[in-house]
Amino acid sequence: MTTGHPTSPRSPRSSRRKRLLRAGLALVAVGAAVAVAVVVVPRLLPPGPRPSFQLPVACGETWQLGTYPGHDDYDVDLFPTEGEAWGRPVLASDAGTVTEAGINGSLGGRTPDDPDGPRGRGGGYWVKIDHGGRWETQYLHLLEPPLVRVGQRVARGEQVGRVGSTGNSGAPHLHYEQRRGWQKVETHFDGSPSGITHDDTEYTVTRTSNNCASGSP
Ligand SMILES: [Zn+2]
Repeated sequence: MTTGHPTSPRSPRSSRRKRLLRAGLALVAVGAAVAVAVVVVPRLLPPGPRPSFQLPVACGETWQLGTYPGHDDYDVDLFPTEGEAWGRPVLASDAGTVTEAGINGSLGGRTPDDPDGPRGRGGGYWVKIDHGGRWETQYLHLLEPPLVRVGQRVARGEQVGRVGSTGNSGAPHLHYEQRRGWQKVETHFDGSPSGITHDDTEYTVTRTSNNCASGSP
């Protein structure tokens, strides 16, 4: 007696293809699980305690911290109260790992020899540091390519670049941000807030750097 569905012998080639497909799908599933663990989970965890950030400029120097309408909430522009801004050392606010070190936007052509040269876009030469616990700092408009590279561990007070006017910058200065959970927050230095919380009005304050002893990375 015969059934309505004659059975054909299984081809060894098609069963190998099925095994390969199953192995491939398993790899994709493992990859997705790893991606969730590495990328998604850290973003769901609450941020850690605020690192003890220091001013990103040399120990003992007094700088003006300010903002202006149209800047952005919490953004800080730093200008030295004495001497030229061009070329002044930019220091890591705290120990961390460099996550950006390159060009944001475009450089433009503003240099010490041509301070009113063509304006660039964005941050110009910049550095971003991950301090752990979802805390980050950013340093923009640097004069030259950063002195650090992505993945490098830096100590508090380690020099990451020099003050310049690359990117969308009117005059040589350091544009600086602190971020918690990838959101900008009010900058704190040496344990106290800067008072720069919004860009509705022009506001400046002076602070003296206590970024003095370079800690171990
Ligand atoms: Zn700025």
